[in-house]
Amino acid sequence: MPDNVIPLFSDTETRPTPGMRAAIAAAEVGDEQKGEDPTVIRLQERVADLLGKESALWLPTGTMCNLVAVKTHTRPGDALVADGMAHVVRAESGGAALASGVVTETIRTERGIFTAAELQAAMDRVAAVPEPYGQPVGLVCVEQTHNFGGGAVWPLEALDAVAACARSRGVPLHMDGARLLNACAALGVSAAAVAARVDSLWIDFTKGLGAPIGAVLAGTAAFIAGARRYKQLFGGAMRQAGIAAAGCLYALDHHVDRLAEDHENARRLAAGLAGIDGIEVRTAAPDTNMVFFDASGPDLSNREFIGRLAASGVRLSGAGGAIRAVTHLDVSRADVDRALAAVRQAAAGRA
Ligand SMILES: *Cc1c(COP(=O)(O)O)cnc(C)c1O
Repeated sequence: MPDNVIPLFSDTETRPTPGMRAAIAAAEVGDEQKGEDPTVIRLQERVADLLGKESALWLPTGTMCNLVAVKTHTRPGDALVADGMAHVVRAESGGAALASGVVTETIRTERGIFTAAELQAAMDRVAAVPEPYGQPVGLVCVEQTHNFGGGAVWPLEALDAVAACARSRGVPLHMDGARLLNACAALGVSAAAVAARVDSLWIDFTKGLGAPIGAVLAGTAAFIAGARRYKQLFGGAMRQAGIAAAGCLYALDHHVDRLAEDHENARRLAAGLAGIDGIEVRTAAPDTNMVFFDASGPDLSNREFIGRLAASGVRLSGAGGAIRAVTHLDVSRADVDRALAAVRQAAAGRA
């Protein structure tokens, strides 16, 4: 990507910093598949500790974390309950259906956050047809922060309520915590405080944390032992993976405290966009690092608007029928101001 491009397309666009590259170059490595890579072992212990879980497992991607977690928690034919815009439902190539044979019962939400009553109703819909005709609910999934919900944060009280509801039915609760640490920065709580509310969860290192490869899944020792088998089965067991894990350890040391800056930049962007004629901001005060907005009108579609911005060096994406801008460590406050100027110009030139 040329240096003059403003990469608001996604927080996956971050590139390893010189410091991270140095840590990667110096990584101590071993055969990860045999459990002999010291850097991977250190990372797994560090994440288990961060999340207050018994055990953790390094995987190549967040998608594989969900794939392995759903497989470990459920049996073929079980129902998986999640909100209808969850990444595990919408954006993982149908992996849960393919690998785990689950049917999906979705909850319609505004921003990806549902209530205990909505979860109860979804589980009641599944249970309305008794077994053997119906199916048991095998797993409930929540997403923190919610990607297509605009980086929406699950407050602890909302999580408590759905956790109690799932527990009352004996159903495990899994969290897609791709951006959990963004949620923690927004809530001002520890990652362990959030993690204590769910049975399993994972964090992604390739979003706002800025590492090139890796995600870590955590839960009880028994859950992780089961997950390890599916990691191998799905081809997720690697060899000298410490090369990549070193980038993740570096991210934990250097890129967590700065997440609040990304949120500040997102708020600055949203506030600026709200003042531009022809732009409709979906969430005036974004919870975390995403801003969803609309530029469409009779004369112009969002897609065309994204194209115009790309021509002026601002990379944006389309998501959920809106335009999505995501802030991260490769987007400075000055970049936000330059992006706003470009949007203003594109919006003014639309008639
Ligand atoms: C990015 C993302 C994933 C998938 O993670 P990858 O590391 O890209 O495979 C899953 N869930 C959410 C909410 C995400 O944003």
